[in-house]
Amino acid sequence: MDFTLSEEQRQLQERAYRFAVEKLGPLSKKYDQEEKFTREVVRMACEAGLVGCFIPKQYGGPGYGSLEVALAMEQVCRIDMGLGMAAMGAATFGSENIVFFGTEEQKRKYLPRLVKGELLSAGAYTEPDSGTDVVSGRTTAIRQGDEYVVNGSKIFITNGTVCDYMITFCITSPEAENRYRRHSLVLIEADRKGITKQKIAGKMGIRATDTAEISFKDVHVPRENLIGQEGMGFYHVMHFFDVTRTMVAAQGVGVSQGALDRTVKYVQEKNFKAKPLSTYQRVQFLLAEMATKIELIRNITYKAAWKVDRGEIDPKLNAMAKYISGEMAVWVCDMAVRLHGEYGYQADSDIQRSYRDAKILEIYEGAKEAEKLTIARRLF
Ligand SMILES: Cc1cc2nc3c(=O)[nH]c(=O)nc-3n(C[C@H](O)[C@H](O)[C@H](O)COP(=O)(O)OP(=O)(O)OC[C@H]3O[C@@H](n4cnc5c(N)ncnc54)[C@H](O)[C@@H]3O)c2cc1C
Repeated sequence: MDFTLSEEQRQLQERAYRFAVEKLGPLSKKYDQEEKFTREVVRMACEAGLVGCFIPKQYGGPGYGSLEVALAMEQVCRIDMGLGMAAMGAATFGSENIVFFGTEEQKRKYLPRLVKGELLSAGAYTEPDSGTDVVSGRTTAIRQGDEYVVNGSKIFITNGTVCDYMITFCITSPEAENRYRRHSLVLIEADRKGITKQKIAGKMGIRATDTAEISFKDVHVPRENLIGQEGMGFYHVMHFFDVTRTMVAAQGVGVSQGALDRTVKYVQEKNFKAKPLSTYQRVQFLLAEMATKIELIRNITYKAAWKVDRGEIDPKLNAMAKYISGEMAVWVCDMAVRLHGEYGYQADSDIQRSYRDAKILEIYEGAKEAEKLTIARRLF
């Protein structure tokens, strides 16, 4: 077993970290408070070669694997998970489906423009009554001649108000007896008539990201916008999550490492009874536990991503990585706030932002319980 990263992988890590420090760091507080990001942020990430990392070279991307995506995502989230997500992960979110299942024409039409930041995408799966239980999604895309007519709504959609298109999970075969064969993925351009978007403000964390509720009322979409096979949408989405969960796990590694970095610096600067906090064994033990847990989640995340890249996708391992990374990130950031004392509780401290940001890792792309179900099912 060789854990050595290649020279290219190390350079990618460095590039992602430098980008985050120089470009995202100065904007973190502002966009967290204003609950927004701008296309300029995505453009800067494009310049750094961090947008559409998974897009193959023939479509303008660097053609990185899941491990490289995880390495870069970790470094960006070390500085700011919300803005890092907006710039790197969310900008192309959902479009992994085009790489996996799209036609040659669809790949040529969308992928190169994502890498240049000319297009932003979204993945619209969740509905008010179907998050974990995604197969209960009720939005329909019914065939009418050469078109689908879409009706229904989606909620908590990242990039909902700012995207150019969304890859949407819709029922296209309502008559299918097997409920897992009713849905398909349909690419819906965001400016089509009949679409209403409502920004959801006041999120606890990752406040720089855009989140929205989307309604579809008789939205006409050409049939050529079908992504993948009709009736296979559920399986397509499951495959999508099996790959992208490693990216979410990497967000947990990054936000935790960032919290540890800041805490190690803080405890050396802050005095207690005329001695730096770092000289107290209780503080050292807590830092040691934080560092150990981060190393654990880093290893499981890298292993899960590495297996994806070898074509050995392991849903159990990916679910383990995502679940434990989220849980540990919340714990590590909690300890970081504790060690920062009153300063960690202030609105202008980076550490309280990390604490708020980390919590989403236990919810999106499958709540922890959804991952535990995936793991448990494979134990029997
Ligand atoms: C900031 C943010 C961004 C998001 N971005 C997107 C996006 O871009 N695209 C998208 O499609 N969705 C997105 N989501 C939605 C997200 O993926 C869902 O919130 C998530 O899948 C959980 O679904 P839910 O909220 O409906 O919770 P529910 O499914 O209602 O679950 C509520 C609680 O019940 C538990 N639970 C559910 N089922 C079981 C079970 N069988 N056994 C035990 N416990 C169970 C869950 O773990 C959870 O604790 C986003 C959400 C947020 C908050």
